[in-house]
Amino acid sequence: NKQVILRDYVSGFPKESDFEITTTTVELRLPEGSNSVLVKNLYLSCDPYMRSRMGKPSAFALAQAFTPGKPILGFGVSRVIESGHPGYKQGDLLWGIVGWEEYSVVTPEMHFKIHDTDVPLSYYTGLLGMPGMTAYAGFHEVCSPKKGETVYVSAASGAVGQLVGQFAKMMGCYVVGSAGSKEKVDLLKNKFGFDDAFNYKEEQDLSAALKRCFPKGIDIYFENVGGKMLDAVLLNMNMHGRIAVCGMISQYNLEDQEGVHNLTSIIYKRIRIQGFVVFDYFEKYSNFMEFVIPCIKEEKIAYVEDVAEGLEKGPEALVGLFYGKNVGKQVVVVARE
Ligand code: NDP
Repeated sequence: NKQVILRDYVSGFPKESDFEITTTTVELRLPEGSNSVLVKNLYLSCDPYMRSRMGKPSAFALAQAFTPGKPILGFGVSRVIESGHPGYKQGDLLWGIVGWEEYSVVTPEMHFKIHDTDVPLSYYTGLLGMPGMTAYAGFHEVCSPKKGETVYVSAASGAVGQLVGQFAKMMGCYVVGSAGSKEKVDLLKNKFGFDDAFNYKEEQDLSAALKRCFPKGIDIYFENVGGKMLDAVLLNMNMHGRIAVCGMISQYNLEDQEGVHNLTSIIYKRIRIQGFVVFDYFEKYSNFMEFVIPCIKEEKIAYVEDVAEGLEKGPEALVGLFYGKNVGKQVVVVARE
């Protein structure tokens, strides 16, 4: 069983050498009488929140720290090889947390069975999985969007951002995104249908860039990056604007978080800033699927993945998120069937 092992707790930016690929020869077996399942992992998802699990255990982390010397964990799409669980049988497909390894034994309590198989299975790591649900819940439940409002999305070409932009367009909003390369900006404008987009790395003055794109101000900011971007956005928000704080990837590798300066805007502009975590919305997953599957079949949603072939490419792909190397949702293929 090939595995991706965390060597030691990570501080600062993660590096490929923080991980090692090992192969165990121990035969994986279901514990006698257990309700676990033995799965073959097909696709693994690279997600920025995984950085918080690489550091030393902390009371502030979203999820429990990974254990050095053990395989890291993340969302994945898997096929059941053997089942001790009444709800699963051999051959069933599911998505949820698994080890970064070829085969895992999991107790499928927090997993979702995959019923729609006439879409690419890798989509269950993104559009049809945790990031898709994040975009859907974050936009519809947290942003309180109305037709005609202006929406700004940062890290807009990524797994979550590309979907938020498209959901906002479906609502009849004016949508602008930012991303870190020309290729990504082109995708935003030409593939995902954003009204406008800019490369934040080429802007001297982020607030001026936002003024150029939003001469009448921003009603909704879908926050994925934090730091200087948030500061610039605060200067450009409209009265009664909403900021959905989904993520702050620019801060995840810093020992000390950057300060945000323009906070008084929150008062006089009556801005509502709300953080959210997708796990609180998983009970709405079936509603989301009823909405999104027809959108895919009718080609109302465009979706871009960045696919790394083979478990050994996993560390490079995962680390790449923090350097903006991924173009679209970063997936690792362990096996195709
Ligand atoms: P992406 O697919 O967008 O990948 C990460 C991207 O972030 C990179 O490609 C890069 O794009 C950008 N980035 C990296 N470092 C920086 C930086 N220092 N400053 C600005 N941008 C940077 O990831 P996801 O779509 O999966 O996640 C987006 C955000 O949503 C993350 O903050 C994540 O933590 C958060 N999230 C939150 C959830 C929740 O429940 N609250 C659930 C899922 C995700 P670029 O080239 O444009 O810089």
